[in-house]
Amino acid sequence: MVLPSDDTEVTYPRGDTRSSGRVLHREPHGEGRQAVLLDVTAAHPVDSAWPDQGPDRGTLTVGEAVLDLLDCVVGATDGSALFVGADVPVRKGTPGWAFVAVHVVDASTPVEEGEEVQVEVDEAHRIALSVGHTACHLASLALNAALADDWTKPVAPDALGRPDFDALAISTSTITPDGSVDRYRVGKSLRKKGFAPARLDGAPDAVAATIGSTLAGWVAGEAAARIEAEGPRLTDRRYWTTELDGRPVSIACGGTHAAALSELRATSVTLELEPADGALTLTMRTSARLPLTPPDAPRP
Ligand SMILES: [Zn+2]
Repeated sequence: MVLPSDDTEVTYPRGDTRSSGRVLHREPHGEGRQAVLLDVTAAHPVDSAWPDQGPDRGTLTVGEAVLDLLDCVVGATDGSALFVGADVPVRKGTPGWAFVAVHVVDASTPVEEGEEVQVEVDEAHRIALSVGHTACHLASLALNAALADDWTKPVAPDALGRPDFDALAISTSTITPDGSVDRYRVGKSLRKKGFAPARLDGAPDAVAATIGSTLAGWVAGEAAARIEAEGPRLTDRRYWTTELDGRPVSIACGGTHAAALSELRATSVTLELEPADGALTLTMRTSARLPLTPPDAPRP
């Protein structure tokens, strides 16, 4: 059994949805499934260390066989064994470890090491996640902007120079098709850092309306956006970059994104606050597309 010694080369950051690669390794992966490692892939794997953007859907074509991509997960190997998802025992960048995209497919079609494989990603699903991910970044910056006056002490700034509520309070972030759900914890430690939650707690709808209009303004600006990568490998640092209010913005991000802010449509943001043992849980739901089916037209 030979496991790769290099990180997988990934082409999804530049927007690719198709790739040709070679099988470097395959092994059984649970009942009726196999894990396939390729030298290069266009399929975005979910990263269990920060699973905000889920796996791409799509297919692997091996010879005549077309296999559904059942899952795509970040894994790692030290050359002796393959660890997948939450079982990866080390952080990215640990010497002697390669981080890889693990393609999970049905095991009934044998896949051989060295075989050529075509990866084809479900484009509609990818676009929806990319739009959702861009909306998520914009909404978090707009949230920081809306809460910028509610800090009594200086804290680390965000990409636009405002107090980074998002980074300091986030507990989970989930990219959905055409949107995102971000959960924040507003507790003692955030208050100690100088955050005054009174306005957020007292008038969340007003704060949400401010976020919504900031977001709509940025989308109307139609700025281009792109991923800047320090290299082609899975763990090379990548940054989502755009321009907002005339300022360059750069945010570290491993996901996929819309190529222009104008791809977002009908943005909306809601905020929900719930008490949670002495703290508050804030849920921000962001949506960035018209529903696929228009509302019923008025009947004659
Ligand atoms: Zn991101």
